[in-house]
Amino acid sequence: MLVSNGMAMISDRGVQDLRDSAWSAYDRLPVGVCIATASGMIRYANPTLHGLLGCEPDGLPGRSLCEFDLDRSLPQAWPARRTDGAVRWVTVAETPLPADPSADADGKGADGQDADTLRMLTVTDVDALCRQEPAAGGGTPSSSHSSWHPGPAGMPMVDALLEAAPVPLFVKDADGQYIAVNDAFARLTGIGRADMLRRTAFALTSPDMAREHVGQDRAVMEREGSVRYEAPVRTAEGAMRMVNLTKTAFRDQGGNPIGIVGAIHQLTETRPNEERLEAILEQSPIGVSVSRRDDGRIVFVNTRFAELIGLPREKLIGSRARDYYLDSHQRLRVLERLRGGGGVTNMEVQFKRADGSPFWTLFTVNQAVIQGVPVNLAWIYDYTERRSMEEALRDMASRDPLTGIYNRRSFMELARSQLARAHRFHEPLSVFVLDVDHFKRINDTFGHATGDDALRMVAAGCQAILREYDLLGRLGGEEFVVVLPGATADESRVVAERVRRHLARMPIEAPDGTFRLTASIGIAGLEGATDTLERAIHRADLALYRAKHLGRNRVAVFEPGM
Ligand code: GH3
Ligand code: MG
Ligand code: MG
Repeated sequence: MLVSNGMAMISDRGVQDLRDSAWSAYDRLPVGVCIATASGMIRYANPTLHGLLGCEPDGLPGRSLCEFDLDRSLPQAWPARRTDGAVRWVTVAETPLPADPSADADGKGADGQDADTLRMLTVTDVDALCRQEPAAGGGTPSSSHSSWHPGPAGMPMVDALLEAAPVPLFVKDADGQYIAVNDAFARLTGIGRADMLRRTAFALTSPDMAREHVGQDRAVMEREGSVRYEAPVRTAEGAMRMVNLTKTAFRDQGGNPIGIVGAIHQLTETRPNEERLEAILEQSPIGVSVSRRDDGRIVFVNTRFAELIGLPREKLIGSRARDYYLDSHQRLRVLERLRGGGGVTNMEVQFKRADGSPFWTLFTVNQAVIQGVPVNLAWIYDYTERRSMEEALRDMASRDPLTGIYNRRSFMELARSQLARAHRFHEPLSVFVLDVDHFKRINDTFGHATGDDALRMVAAGCQAILREYDLLGRLGGEEFVVVLPGATADESRVVAERVRRHLARMPIEAPDGTFRLTASIGIAGLEGATDTLERAIHRADLALYRAKHLGRNRVAVFEPGM
């Protein structure tokens, strides 16, 4: 607390002054300090941060963290953007601040901002470290490691080898700038060699991916040996393609890294991780297919989908999703929605079986990125097979239209009967409540449609981890609830951790690149023979509140006294 309860009687204005003077204690610190609202608006920044970002004194308050690429929380360093357009490598530590005492009941501060969720960011300048300047030789980072020159005047044998190699090869200096690429590289990426020279990975790929490459480069420069990893690369044809990269650092006589050499091994076939998908697919009574967004080819179908179409899986894989639509107008309607960046939920679409016979489905398609490959995830729900249309409608009424999982009402109904069962057989059962962290920021940054996509991805991500008999529902907004029959609170902590990690790794498509999100989870087990669902959810909520308070992206189990 910045102001003790004993001061509660002073005016709003006085409280704010007090708070501001408390912040000014950071004025003299040699690291950058900044206080921002939950949505990333800067309220205070100390002089060090102004200097670091190249901003005139007092220029930062009122501006957004995003402008400087500071509104992210990563364990490693990344380049922040300065006002003069240059970048400066930083690490950022974020701490949520205690509630603002001047906030009134609805959470608005004295100045009408969402003051109850202020965050403090400590920004450390690690630019010199990250640029890995070799100890010897002065000059600017880009001119200080020119001990190896490509080109005819340099090392003819090396140049000839580079050119003759049938695999794409590249050489970067310690700043991550390309200093040589071979023909195979230019053919793969469609970027001419002259255009690559002196550019960095940021010129080739999305900022998130580029950061990953830069991280790998630094890792390999810091130690012996090489690194090998998979990443998507945009090909000359404009398609995204998963490739394997192998990188090795080269060093000067003193052993200091002066650059890296990289090779790209193209994978013959690119498919999303089957293991991860199978969990979602096989337990589904609904037909599921996954097709690549670039060429429309199906890369995955579940058993149910193969049954519905009436073809074996081997025949379906590699065929085009478009071949199974009965009506081209319906297909165009679906495509239009997907092109707009959105998805399709429970649209009535007719498909045809291998024998040509039509069937009506409720069709849902979401866009996703699996292992770097942009795909369409399609769910087809055959309702001609149902005894009556009425049944299908009843089922739709129990589902949340956005995510397709149980809505609050039907979740509560189903969960209550699970709870009664647990009581009857004296079996454990636990509940967890999951809330996406800083979801408002996702809406604010990428727009509501991307926010909706993120919610669908969160629902699908939970489903991928949960067991068949766990119940998943959407409580509302960006809050989800799960009942795990047969699991104690400790056992469900393991599951919740898995869900949390899975969500944190899941790339989500935004109009310009991908992003990631995190969620916090609160868990409660059943307490005694008379416990109710409402009380268990309430306890899980208290644990969730604790998880948020401890910094988000974590799991907390309810303990008495929370
Ligand atoms: P915290 O980490 O504290 O949970 O932060 P938060 O931003 O997630 O918190 P809050 O609960 O205040 O914000 C939830 C936001 O979710 C507010 C609302 O605009 C948004 N939201 C609720 N339902 C939907 C929806 O169906 N779609 C989209 N795109 N946004 C939604
Ligand atoms: Mg919420
Ligand atoms: Mg939230």
